[in-house]
Amino acid sequence: MTSKEEWIEKDLKYVWHPDTQQKQYEGNNYKPTIIEKGDGIYVYDIDGNKYIDAVSSWWVNTLGHSVKRLNNALLTQAEKIEHILLADFTHKPAIELAEKLVNIAGSPFTKVFYSDDGSTAVEVALKMAYQYWYQKGKPEKKFFVSMTESYHGDTLGSVSVGGIDIYKKIFNPLVFETLKVCAPYCYRCPKNCKQGKCNIDCFEEVEKLFEARHSEIAAMIVEPLVQGAAGMRMYPAEYLKKLRTLCDKYDILLIDDEVAMAFGRTGKYFAFEHAGIKPDIFCVAKGITAGYIPLAATITTDKIYNAFYDDFSTLKTFYHGHSFTGNPLACAVAVENLNIMKEEKIIENLQHKIEYFKNRLKIFESLKHAGDIRHIGMIGAIEMVKDKTTKEPYAFEDRMGHKVFLEAMKRGAILRPIGNVIYFMPPLIITEAQIDDLLKIAFDSIKTVTENN
Ligand SMILES: *Cc1c(COP(=O)(O)O)cnc(C)c1O
Repeated sequence: MTSKEEWIEKDLKYVWHPDTQQKQYEGNNYKPTIIEKGDGIYVYDIDGNKYIDAVSSWWVNTLGHSVKRLNNALLTQAEKIEHILLADFTHKPAIELAEKLVNIAGSPFTKVFYSDDGSTAVEVALKMAYQYWYQKGKPEKKFFVSMTESYHGDTLGSVSVGGIDIYKKIFNPLVFETLKVCAPYCYRCPKNCKQGKCNIDCFEEVEKLFEARHSEIAAMIVEPLVQGAAGMRMYPAEYLKKLRTLCDKYDILLIDDEVAMAFGRTGKYFAFEHAGIKPDIFCVAKGITAGYIPLAATITTDKIYNAFYDDFSTLKTFYHGHSFTGNPLACAVAVENLNIMKEEKIIENLQHKIEYFKNRLKIFESLKHAGDIRHIGMIGAIEMVKDKTTKEPYAFEDRMGHKVFLEAMKRGAILRPIGNVIYFMPPLIITEAQIDDLLKIAFDSIKTVTENN
């Protein structure tokens, strides 16, 4: 039988892990953890240790691990048809899912374009927006606007509209030029407003840019309400409302990257609902199959679709299609996910839990190094700082977040950080008692690391 040590040795020999400097595992007790099974909010390692999956396995899990109904949906579909191309062919799960997505999103959304993951859903949105303007006779509308510190995926198009140095800097010679506006980061407000007194003054920058360059701008792409990869930075829904109005004024498309926020994460199906607006195009991925299988969708309106609808000879076809587009296994699980969300009133039942979560996060206020405590829906985040008064951050090399992560693993929770931000993004089905367990582990871990070291 292969021992745990042998599995790890082989892992490090053969697997190149994402976003990981593997040299850190050298001559160290710290190794990747082998997870063998999951149940609800918990996952279990090869030794049987149990951990709360507080990051929903990179933000994808919504209904917990190994859900009977989802397992059955997957197996049932596998016995019918596991895959079929989606050009000139179709299948019931893809049709059913598209209908459900359009119905949940509401008017004016009418069309669902499938792809495989968040990055490809964003690529689709960008190409769709550009080709839309091209076919409207405005090929000069070729620039995309996005926020500083934004994250839209790791493929080159999505990196182009991204703004986080670690993902982008090296590739700057390869990516296409985009226009950036300052992100609304309330804790370190670019306009120095006191929190709670926000008039969204930072929006002026968008107004000025649109006014000056609207004739060249195809679309603005945003992460709605939360810049996830930037460290769960949150901003007011009012910003999105203003953006919708401004996009309409200047004939600029609004692309809403809901990849991390859709399917209940913010307490609603889609984050744009908080602002009472509808984007022109939006992207969903994480959460669409409740965390089971890669699948993504770029959802849009007839306004966009009709610009592509014409006689074959006009060459208006959208030539984009991944081999596994609309995979039946993934679509069948996604359909069942949406059935469960509806039948078990997942969103409705979240509302009380969200209030509870928000109130319980106050315990972190007593910690000396908890600089900012932010919350929306089923996301909580703590930005740890060296000095609360000056907001002086910890240095990158201090790896404070990483230390808290290791400490929390010992205590039974996966709190994989973003730099110095410890965040909670648990499966939506977490109970209030489990929220308490999780926050206690986080509290003790942060306290141990920041006050004893
Ligand atoms: C994760 C993420 C993506 C990329 O999704 P992948 O499935 O990892 O390619 C895009 N946009 C946002 C907002 C994300 O959080």
